[in-house]
Amino acid sequence: MAESKKKCRQYSVDYLKFGFIESVSDKRLPMCLLCNRVLCHDAMKPSKLEDHLRRWHPDKRSKDLKYFQILKEKLQKSNSRWTECLLRLHKEMIMVSKRLIIFRYL
Ligand SMILES: [Zn+2]
Repeated sequence: MAESKKKCRQYSVDYLKFGFIESVSDKRLPMCLLCNRVLCHDAMKPSKLEDHLRRWHPDKRSKDLKYFQILKEKLQKSNSRWTECLLRLHKEMIMVSKRLIIFRYL
């Protein structure tokens, strides 16, 4: 019986050297740190990731892992700031809607 099972490749931290992290929305998909493009699951191969870096960001090809680590940290910090901002906004909206409900019944 032939093996027709498709190998499901997972994100590896090694892919950071090509400028890729796992996508925030779907951890099975690779996301480019340089252009924020999320590639399809078929692109989760070192050769495809390297190809993206070479084609779309030729000026960043010679960058080392440290460069991409800094980019990753910056992105994570900005994401957590954005989440805090959304949470604050959400709480304010709840307060406003509660006030509106109270106002309606006065
Ligand atoms: Zn890119």
